[in-house]
Amino acid sequence: MDLQQIVDDTWNALADERGSGTPAGYIPALAQVDPTKFGIAIATRDGSVFCAGDADEQFSIQSVSKVFALAMALDREGAALWEAVGREPSGNPFNSIVQLEREKGKPRNPFINSGAIVTTDRFIGDRGPDEAVADLLSRLHNMARDTRITIDEDVARSESETGARNRSLAYFMADFGRLLNPVEDVLSVYFRQCGIAMSCRQLAEASLFLAFDGTDPVTGLTMCSTERARRINALMLLCGHYDNSGEFAFDVGFPGKSGVGGGILASVPGRATLAVWSPGLNRAGTSLLGARALAQIADRTGWSVFSGT
Ligand code: GLN
Repeated sequence: MDLQQIVDDTWNALADERGSGTPAGYIPALAQVDPTKFGIAIATRDGSVFCAGDADEQFSIQSVSKVFALAMALDREGAALWEAVGREPSGNPFNSIVQLEREKGKPRNPFINSGAIVTTDRFIGDRGPDEAVADLLSRLHNMARDTRITIDEDVARSESETGARNRSLAYFMADFGRLLNPVEDVLSVYFRQCGIAMSCRQLAEASLFLAFDGTDPVTGLTMCSTERARRINALMLLCGHYDNSGEFAFDVGFPGKSGVGGGILASVPGRATLAVWSPGLNRAGTSLLGARALAQIADRTGWSVFSGT
């Protein structure tokens, strides 16, 4: 299978539609990104990366960071993390508060904002917030073999300044005794992790552990156990796109995680990781063109977690 051809064909087939969808405007710094950006990268077991378009340009990974935060929180906390956050799809927007009151401040899953705030709290553990952020970044550097991955402080600050909704979620959960660290410490890490800037290439390379049972086949670095990698994939499939997760599973057929920066990270267990970026979003906050690109790649490659071959 010629993956470079497939990536190029997919990019060319959708290029005229660059700019479709609506970029996130509620984080002012994100509204300034060129909406016509479009990148695709596929990373495979042998270390090859097949790229098209703006695949080497860094963008704000936003909620894609929730996958890394989950893997690292599980690493620190083990299965006890599941006492703090659930594993059910929410069927609600990513920043919804409605289920929290009924469920006594326990978020439905780690991929909605409330769940990620709890996950981040556990990832901080008994360290200070700055130490936790440094740990997160250094692991990403190791996994992507690239120290150019940074935090876009302007995006993090912009999000903090306009972060009333995330503050509401965090203080509401704190009222139920769900957070171990001071709310503002947790949010300072949460906003910085959302502001991590990575390219499609870096994202695909850093997440190979997801597609290969917890261990990066290129570096040999183990991020998590086989069982845990499979479970993270299960959560991505069921919860990775908020109230759009069903559509994504239906159209694409493998686990993915979107972010309001327009990035989507996807994993095809046993085969590859994929990252796409196009800032225009659909109504649920998933990249419109990015999801279409992944659906086309799934179609061309035949990759699906539901495949019998
Ligand atoms: N930083 C964003 C927020 O908290 C992340 C949301 C997203 O990417 N879906 O609103």
